[in-house]
Amino acid sequence: MATVERWRVRPGTTLDLSAIDTRDAAAAPGDKEATLEATALLTTRLGELQERLWAEGRRSVLVVLQAMDAGGKDGTVKHIFRAVNPAGARVTSFKAPSAEERAHDFLWRVHAAVPARGEIGIFNRSHYEDVVVVRVDELVPEPVWRARYDAIWAWEHHLAAEGTVIVKLFLHISPEEQAQRFRDRLDDPTKHWKFNRGDLAVRARWDDHQAAYAEAIERTTTDEAPWYVVPADRKWFRNWVVSSILVDTLEAMDPQFPEPADDLSGIEVV
Ligand code: AMP
Ligand code: MG
Repeated sequence: MATVERWRVRPGTTLDLSAIDTRDAAAAPGDKEATLEATALLTTRLGELQERLWAEGRRSVLVVLQAMDAGGKDGTVKHIFRAVNPAGARVTSFKAPSAEERAHDFLWRVHAAVPARGEIGIFNRSHYEDVVVVRVDELVPEPVWRARYDAIWAWEHHLAAEGTVIVKLFLHISPEEQAQRFRDRLDDPTKHWKFNRGDLAVRARWDDHQAAYAEAIERTTTDEAPWYVVPADRKWFRNWVVSSILVDTLEAMDPQFPEPADDLSGIEVV
């Protein structure tokens, strides 16, 4: 098992994202081939652990995915779903809020989507947009988004107390890698639908977004809802890291098959 600690952001850390190598794969179990094999084993293990979580039906896991555009959120969702049974898992993608969502507090729509007991829930974007894009685009005044760090802290603490284990993953790519992925999208007609002109305006403010992410991560990483910064320029390495973190998290939870409600010994099926 990889030591997932190396990607975890400890409370009290000052985070300099530009100092974290997005191509770092030094911790990989071997070359690309070997890492893909190791990931396949982790995928199997994750499936077993999810079945136990589902059978136990008492606790849940919430995986929060954040990244710059083309950072690999969709690919990571696909990867996780290779391991898990969709019956006990669900993914929610958060777009710019609708009029109804904007008429409520920023946690309203995310709270409605949290996983039920036994489930793994994946947020593809999340309430962290409300302290990142909302901050950079000045969609609300600073005192409003600044107060949200405490609100997020309290809300995640509440979920944790109710039995939800929260894992927050920042898929960290370089601006060069993003440019390459955008070009790939433009060059391939089957990927045009993924390209959005507006993404270029966001890209132009790269440093502002990175600074907003760094502060959001620093202020909301806790022992019960930790952030991990995942080097994500190489997809095979990213998938291995994500799998390692999820397996590690579920192993620490150690979900158990429930005891049968009555004594099943001696029952004959005729
Ligand atoms: P995509 O993930 O490419 O489908 O894009 C979704 C868009 O919705 C991104 O540009 C996000 O920044 C935006 N978005 C998501 N949540 C919010 C939010 N709470 N406020 C403003 N924009 C948001
Ligand atoms: Mg997009």
